[in-house]
Amino acid sequence: MTTLTLPGLIDVHTHLRVPGGEHKEDFTTGTAAALAGGVTMVLGMPNTTPPIAMADVLAQTRARAAQEILCDVGLFAGASPEHTAELPALGEDAVALKIYLNDTFGTLRVEDVPTLRACFAIWPREKMIAMHAEKRSVAVGIGMAAAYRRPVHFCHISRREEIELIADAKMAGLPVSCEVTPHHLFLNRDDAERLGPLGDMRPILGTTDDVAALWEHINDTVDCVATDHAPHTIAEKQGEKYPPGVPGVETSLPLMLTAVADNRLTLERVIALMVDNPRRLFNLPAQADTRVEVDLTPTIIRAEDMHSKCGWTPFDGREVAGRVARVILRGEVVYEDGQVLAAPGFGQVI
Ligand SMILES: [Zn+2]
Repeated sequence: MTTLTLPGLIDVHTHLRVPGGEHKEDFTTGTAAALAGGVTMVLGMPNTTPPIAMADVLAQTRARAAQEILCDVGLFAGASPEHTAELPALGEDAVALKIYLNDTFGTLRVEDVPTLRACFAIWPREKMIAMHAEKRSVAVGIGMAAAYRRPVHFCHISRREEIELIADAKMAGLPVSCEVTPHHLFLNRDDAERLGPLGDMRPILGTTDDVAALWEHINDTVDCVATDHAPHTIAEKQGEKYPPGVPGVETSLPLMLTAVADNRLTLERVIALMVDNPRRLFNLPAQADTRVEVDLTPTIIRAEDMHSKCGWTPFDGREVAGRVARVILRGEVVYEDGQVLAAPGFGQVI
């Protein structure tokens, strides 16, 4: 058996569903899934119920996380037109700010310029502003980065027109960065048709040309691979009005290592995309004595092996180049051969 040792991975885009969506995922199951994927630090998104757009909700959610998480977690605050007065307080304890410019799951949405200006004027400069921006909304985010001379991070970029626009902005010296998801790298419109509701998320899966564009930019314009781990139950996905989103935190590393085996990028680049760049861009703390051991024996992704509460994966049945065998966090073995060994509260709130 060939073993590969990597640093603990950082996933800057997950939905842990606390508060209010605990039937889909909770802090313990979501961070168990992370460890099973070799991820030792995740950032959680604020489109919860209620959303993390007020300081008291953030404080309560952080307190709960401290009791329940198995790996390290930072929480985003969400921008909302009703709660701009909360931005200074949110800025103290949230790891970053999320602005939803386009429609997605949940109620958080910013469409007006006064709220955008408040965010860029008030949010602490050392903390990132991340945006859900699609198509020409990406140009809005680039404009804000230019006008306020501060970094903007674009979540889950999925289309050729978007990645090319970000490449142009970078060429012009603007402080923008972006992430792509494994599902947008490894699935396309044909898979969306095959998977039905289990292949529906925001942004939707791209054309083969969109997918090709993300791979063309994987060694330069793309800064991070983040999963947008967005679990929903099978029952919800089978409903008439099924919610968008797919889980992904425990399949991202095996998929990226498969791309390495196929010579689509180097292992060094994977570490830049999944460890070094996320840490640098979001100003995240180092994790001492932390590593991931991967068994590089080809293996099949199986829904029944998943640790996420939702219990399914859009990659069910896919062959990948390896599996996470062991995870060590701060000197403790927290995951080994399918078993999560960390106790709730072992993770630290960032
Ligand atoms: Zn998301």
